[in-house]
Amino acid sequence: MSDIEKLQELIDGSNNIVFFGGAGVSTESGIPDFRSVDGLYHQKFKYPPETMLSHSFYVTHKEEFYEFYRDKLLLKVVGTPEVPKAEPNAAHKFLAELEEAGKLKAVVTQNIDGLHQSAGSKVVYELHGSVLRNFCLSCHKQHSAEEIFNSQGVPKCACGGDIKPDVVLYEEGLDMDVMQGAIRAISNADMLIIGGTSLVVYPAAGLVDYYRGKKLVLINRDPTDRDSVADYVFHGKIGEIFSQLHV
Ligand code: NAD
Repeated sequence: MSDIEKLQELIDGSNNIVFFGGAGVSTESGIPDFRSVDGLYHQKFKYPPETMLSHSFYVTHKEEFYEFYRDKLLLKVVGTPEVPKAEPNAAHKFLAELEEAGKLKAVVTQNIDGLHQSAGSKVVYELHGSVLRNFCLSCHKQHSAEEIFNSQGVPKCACGGDIKPDVVLYEEGLDMDVMQGAIRAISNADMLIIGGTSLVVYPAAGLVDYYRGKKLVLINRDPTDRDSVADYVFHGKIGEIFSQLHV
């Protein structure tokens, strides 16, 4: 039996699937991940990306924070005449189809690009928030990604308040309701598919330990430290792999 046939058989025999994913799910949509050789962490910036995406940097260096946020996190999500807007790929679409068919109960994602929802997924636990939402810290008005992308310098709300992306920055805690929803879904899953994540960002990566079943599937381009604990490991591009499966 080929790898694809095995994966199809596992999916066919499950009706409470949960998917846990990361940046690798969106690379085939043109959004770079962080830790691959062509990822953000291998590019040269004035400060390390972890610093520029930290809460204290947001507070003390707002102008540089927004420069980085626009260029590295919003550009591909919003798109320009030169840079096409990222669209959901075969991985996002297949997961939405599995949910529509009643087989998949939740997507738990570390991504902040909104592509699972664009593909049609309804139950999405966004552990690290979303660049599609940006809030005024004073009046709580919501500002779109487009509005922030097209603003200059440090964007301000009409009320004069500071705006902060609804993204969990380094030094910030995760939303407890989102965490609890994700834990509940993973604890109850009969199959957990982990895909496109290096599994090194905590506490998010620790969520996979809540899975109690015997169908822990890991799909990643590069090996991870958790390959040894998975029941099935597939190395490859997740969009290419999922495009060979059916609901
Ligand atoms: P990561 O960059 O640490 O790891 C990505 C992993 O995905 C790598 O192990 C790589 O081998 C694998 N990968 C890359 N392309 C793949 C493909 N096509 N198919 C299968 N595997 C592929 O990403 P992470 O573990 O998600 O952690 C990084 C953090 O950065 C997360 O918290 C996330 O919020 C954030 N992030 C989000 C986005 C996004 O929203 N699209 C993009 C970059 C980073």
